[in-house]
Amino acid sequence: MEQNPLRTAHPSARSPLKYRVGPSGLHIFDRQTGINLLFDEVRARQSQWAAAPRQVSVAVTNACDLACPYCYAPKTSATLDFDSVVEWLEELDANGCLGVGFGGGEPTVYPRFAELCRKIAHETALAVTFTTHAHRLNNELASALAGNVHFVRVSMDGVGDTYESLRSRSFSSLCLRLELVRQIACFGINFVVNSQTLADLDAATEFAAEIGALEFLLLPEQPTWGRTGIDENTALALRHWVSNYRGSVPLTVSTAGAAGLPTSNPLPNETGLRAYAHIDASGILKTSSFENAGVAIGVDGVMRALEVLRTRVEENE
Ligand code: SF4
Repeated sequence: MEQNPLRTAHPSARSPLKYRVGPSGLHIFDRQTGINLLFDEVRARQSQWAAAPRQVSVAVTNACDLACPYCYAPKTSATLDFDSVVEWLEELDANGCLGVGFGGGEPTVYPRFAELCRKIAHETALAVTFTTHAHRLNNELASALAGNVHFVRVSMDGVGDTYESLRSRSFSSLCLRLELVRQIACFGINFVVNSQTLADLDAATEFAAEIGALEFLLLPEQPTWGRTGIDENTALALRHWVSNYRGSVPLTVSTAGAAGLPTSNPLPNETGLRAYAHIDASGILKTSSFENAGVAIGVDGVMRALEVLRTRVEENE
C-alpha cells in the first residue's frame, strides 16, 4: 500500500523537508533551498498545531568585539552552555520549530560555534542561520561552517565611511570577509536604519545585489540604552524609500520596525509565540530579543518554559 508522504517525512527520517501544522494551514519547508509551501486550505484543530514557535533565535553569548552605538545586546557577561543549547533545540525541533538563528553578541566569539552549528544541522531538521559582523571569519572557520549552516545574515549598516564610522572596522575588510561568507552559505544583509544610515540605502542595496545577497533586511533602529531609536522623520523617509524601491534584492523588515511599511505576511494567523521566540545568553526565554523579562529555562526544558511564558502573555493581553 502506498504510504502517506506526510507521515513518512518525520524529521527522524532526515528528510530535507519539514512539515508543520498551524493556524494558517500546512507549512512545508525545505531548509536546503529555503522554499516554503503553504497549504492554507488545510484546517487542523488547535490541538494538532505545532507547539513550538516557527522560528527561534538564540543569543549564544553577549560578548562582542565591536561596540556599535545602537547595539541592544545586554552588556552583562553571559554565555550559554553548549549541551543546554543542543537539548533545547532538539526539543523545539521535535515540537515543530523550523529554524534557529544564532546571534548574540557576536556568535563567532562563542568558543564551540562551528561545532554547535554542525551538531544542530546534523542531529535536527532545523534550518541553521546566524547573524554576524563577519570580521572574525577566516578560512578555517568558514570551512568548518560550510555545509552546516543554511543561511548567513551579515550586519552592514551603510557602505564606505558610514559603515566605518559606525562599526569601527574598515569597509574593505568587510568586503574580503564577504568572500568567505559566500563559501559558507547563501546570505543576506542586515541594515540598521537610522538618520546616519538612511542616505546609504541605495548604495547598500546596489552593493548587496553585486555581491549576490539574497535578502536585504531593514532594521529600523529600536530604542535601547541611551538611544531613542529611529526618529519620526527618518521613519517617514524610509517609508518613502521602500515605496520607490526598484532594486533586485528582496526587502524584508524586522517585526519590531514594520509599522507603517508595506508588508505581506503569508502566515497571518501564526503570531506571537506561535511564530517566534528568543532565548537570551542567560537562558531566559522571551517573546523577543528587545524584551527584558522572560521565563528562565529550567531542568524541565524549553517547552515547559514556553508554556509558562505563553500563559503569562495571555494573562497580560
Ligand atoms: S556587532 Fe552586533 S553585537 Fe556586536 S556591538 Fe555591534 S550590534 Fe552589538
